[in-house]
Amino acid sequence: MQTKWLSYEDEAAVAEAAELLQNGELVAFATETVYGLGADAMNESAVKKIFEAKGRPSDNPLIVHIYDQSQLEALVQEVSFDAKRLMDAFWPGPLTIILPKKKNVPDATTGGLSTVAVRMPDHPAAQAILRASNVPVAAPSANLSGKPSPTTARDVFEDMNGRIPMLIDGGDCEVGVESTVVDMTRTPAMILRPGGVTREMMEAVIGPVEVHEAVLAPLASDAQAASPGMKYKHYAPKAHVRIITGDRAAERICRLYDAAKKEGISTIIFSVCEEKELFGDRDFYAWGDLEDVASVAHHLFSSLRMADEKGYDQVLCHSVDTEGVGLAVMNRLVRAAGFDIEQA
Ligand code: AMP
Ligand code: MG
Repeated sequence: MQTKWLSYEDEAAVAEAAELLQNGELVAFATETVYGLGADAMNESAVKKIFEAKGRPSDNPLIVHIYDQSQLEALVQEVSFDAKRLMDAFWPGPLTIILPKKKNVPDATTGGLSTVAVRMPDHPAAQAILRASNVPVAAPSANLSGKPSPTTARDVFEDMNGRIPMLIDGGDCEVGVESTVVDMTRTPAMILRPGGVTREMMEAVIGPVEVHEAVLAPLASDAQAASPGMKYKHYAPKAHVRIITGDRAAERICRLYDAAKKEGISTIIFSVCEEKELFGDRDFYAWGDLEDVASVAHHLFSSLRMADEKGYDQVLCHSVDTEGVGLAVMNRLVRAAGFDIEQA
């Protein structure tokens, strides 16, 4: 199968994408978070193709994308008062809301759960396809399972070429990390996965919001995964990723780098551009600015993919603060690092 790579600004391409979705085929498309790999959420055999194309475990549920709140009627049993307030405040945007599902939403879409995750994306490519197809679209990130999520059309093409009929290009993803996932079937609401809509932003609208303990820690092996995705190894590049935190992190990174170099382990340092000078002539990549953690989120996955493309054995990352979107960055980073965090 040849994957057609077309722009969302091409009307004929959007019409063809919509037709593919209606016919139970897969289409990858840009959203503001990361690229998604979509199928008609109500069509079980279409949804199964997503799991095949990605090599994704079948108990890992998908997010259902809609362009209008009226589509919720077919998907969820009820929208609570607070859930509605979050929708009105943050949709379209990088917030996924978990609600009790209607029976006709296939088990394949929800990983057999009695709940469904729903999001309204804020990207003209995603919106055009959702509107033209007029079906709710189940879409996980359009990467091979376990690899860093794709934030450019080229990333998607690299992973999915030959596996899917069409890729709709919408440029680089603005947010760069996946949506915030919030469980609204309990009180208080609980963040299962941090993202572009932060705890602070939600609390300003609905009051106290909890954060699941597995957000920054490994899931205890006996713990029941509230959000099945949390138990899988995620976001991992081929290179060995290590996180260094604390006041003496930069010094420690230099020492680790120099020791690795002696052993022939090729290493790159990721930190904010303000720290470049601290690392001298060591291989360094500025993944964002100190005062703008969203810029780190934006570059996070592309940085990890770049390290693999250039063949580095090891990436030494200076941690970021977990305020605001920093929590989403650290959630992805600790997983990429297999929870290898050192306090310096
Ligand atoms: P991805 O589509 O790759 O961004 O992954 C979606 C993630 O959303 C999953 O791995 C789950 O962790 C989470 N998720 C989706 N649906 C549900 C649900 N019904 N209950 C809890 N978590 C969910
Ligand atoms: Mg994913």
